[in-house]
Formats: sequence, C-alpha cells, structure tokens
Amino acid sequence: GNKIRIGIAGYGNLGRGVEASVAQNPDMELVGVFTRRDPATVSPAQPETQVFAWDTLAARTGDVDVMILCGGSASDLPQQSPELAGLFNIVDSFDTHANVPAHFAAVDAPALETKHTAVISTGWDPGMFSLNRLFGEAILPQGKTYTFWGRGVSQGHSDAIRRVPGVAAGVQYTLPAQPAIEAVRNGEQPELSTREKHTRECYVVLEEGADAAAVRETIVSMPNYFADYDTTVHFISAEELAEQHNSMPHGGFVMRSGDTGHGAVAQDGTAHRQVIEYGLTLADNPSFTASVLVAYARAAYRLAQAGNFGAKTVFDIAPGLLDIRFAGELRRELL
Ligand code: NDP
Repeated sequence: GNKIRIGIAGYGNLGRGVEASVAQNPDMELVGVFTRRDPATVSPAQPETQVFAWDTLAARTGDVDVMILCGGSASDLPQQSPELAGLFNIVDSFDTHANVPAHFAAVDAPALETKHTAVISTGWDPGMFSLNRLFGEAILPQGKTYTFWGRGVSQGHSDAIRRVPGVAAGVQYTLPAQPAIEAVRNGEQPELSTREKHTRECYVVLEEGADAAAVRETIVSMPNYFADYDTTVHFISAEELAEQHNSMPHGGFVMRSGDTGHGAVAQDGTAHRQVIEYGLTLADNPSFTASVLVAYARAAYRLAQAGNFGAKTVFDIAPGLLDIRFAGELRRELL
C-alpha cells in the first residue's frame, strides 16, 4: 500500500531522531528535511536524506502527509506550529507546560480552517508521562500523583553553571531521590518538599587559577536553580567531561498511589492501597522523544483520513491508532 509520507521541519537533535525513527517504521517514508538555514550547510545523518529550504514548504503541501516539527519550544514552535498547521497535518513536542492551553488554541484554529490534524505537546513529558498521570487519576480518583525526573541532563541547569565565573565547562544531572521513590512505592503517600524529591549533581571543569571552593559555593547557593536542592559539585578535567559526559540520558517515573475498597477503607477496616508506576530509562532523550513523535504521526495521518481535524493532545487519541498493526491484529496479539 501507500506509505505515510513524513516531512521533518527543523533539523537538530529531535530532527535527527525522527530521521532514524522513520527508517524503523515500514509503513512510512521520509520526504526530507526542511530547514531555515541554507540547505547546503546542513548535512543529514543519513546521506540519502534530502534537505530543502524552509521557504519551499508552502509549495510541498501535496507531497507530505504529516510534517513533524522539531523546532525548540521556547521560540520556534509558538510560531511554527500555527503556521504549518495551516499547510499540513502536524505533530509537535511543545513542552512549556504552562503555555499548552494557549498553544492548543493557536494551532486549533488554522488546523480546523484548513482541515488538518495537529497533534501538539507529545513526547515523554509532556506525552507519555501525561498519559500515565491521566491513567492513574482516572483509575484511582482518591490518591496522590508523583512525577520524578532523572537521572538526566538538564539543559537549563547546565547553562546556569557554565555562567558561573571560574567555570570553563560543565554538565548538570537531575536525579530522583531514592528515599522518596521508595516511600511512594511502599504506599506511604508522603508529602514531599522540593529538596526531598530530587537532587542535583554538577560536573564542572574549572578555568585555570579558579577558586574551587568559591565556585562550589556560588553554584549550590544559586537561587531558583540550586538553592532549594541538595547539590553536589564534582570538579573534573576537560578530558573526563568529553569522555564521560557527552550523552543526553533522561527519564523518570510517574506514580499514582490511591485507595480503593468501600470508599477509602475496606470492610475489614484497612485501606486497599494500590500503586501504579510507569518508568523510563532513556540513554538518549531526543531520539526517544522522536520515536514518540513518529508513532503520533501515524495517528495524525489516520485521524486526518477519518476527517477528524483540529488540534489534539495525547488525551484525545486512541492508543490503537499509534501502532502499525490494525485493530483486529492488536486484539489478537496484545489484548
Ligand atoms: P535543537 O536545538 O537541537 O534544535 C532546534 C532547532 O534549532 C532545529 O529545529 C534547527 O532548526 C535549529 N538548529 C539545530 N542545530 C542547529 C545548528 N547547528 N545551527 C543553527 N540552528 C540549528 O533542539 P532539540 O532538537 O534538542 O529539541 C527541540 C525541542 O524538543 C526542545 O526545545 C524541547 O522543547 C522539545 N522536547 C520535548 C520533549 C517532550 O518530552 N515533549 C523531550 C525533549 C525535547 P533549523 O533546521 O530550521 O535551523
């Protein structure tokens, strides 16, 4: 049959991940990458991938079934998603949680007007974690939801340590606090402070002659970024940073702990405490995120084929639409 024709809008980490993921899905083919830079300066990871200029997008509406947007959430997607939802079915990974409602509205209008399907804010968080928070809260309405992140690189915190005087280079990892995770797993439903939920670990290369104690103090007392956390600072060489800290791991846990039974208490007087846990251990954050975007591109295509247009989030999309197999096969193989 006909393959789903995928375009990639923006070619950074996520764009490279989508390129690799499309190659793993036999019902899809890659039309190419669209970039704002001079296409001649962008060399794709797979040599056969074609690179096109951004200003050719409007002329390619008949060649692409779903455009996967791989721009940054801070300044690219607020502009690109509404624009491209008026030309294509789209998928994006917009991750500024507080601005999701405004982003949804800004994408919904052009998508509905031009009869396109636009999946926004998918990936792992928002995305798979959001879905698992919803499953937990729908199934266990009386309870508590917990999200822990890490071990993973935080770009914002890494940038913050690099701005400290005396720091030549550095990386910051966010880690979930093990005692907190154990308490949630045990069904204790703890009240957790910021400090109790996550810890921060910094690997720092000092500039020559810099005062290590002063750098450590500036980092651990930095408001908003580190002051509210238990932070450890490790001083390492530039070589060690390059060898040991060059990847982008991430992940975390979504947990829901709730009570069932007769109200909160069973007939024998004890609560039926239930715990749900969803965990991700990601060796590479952007390529995993890209794999989620590609599965949602399949769903976007199927929704558009069915005439179901407008902006959608993970909450609006039936899970069976994500899989290459059709409903009957899924019932036989996975139910
Ligand atoms: P990048 O910074 O790697 O890429 C963003 C854009 O920058 C690209 O689309 C590209 O656009 C441009 N760009 C990339 N490399 C260069 C370069 N060398 N020179 C100039 N411009 C360049 O970001 P990521 O791909 O890592 O992440 C994109 C977004 O994904 C993040 O902002 C984040 O919000 C989101 N995300 C969401 C997750 C989720 O779970 N929902 C998880 C992880 C990320 P162009 O080709 O047009 O120049």
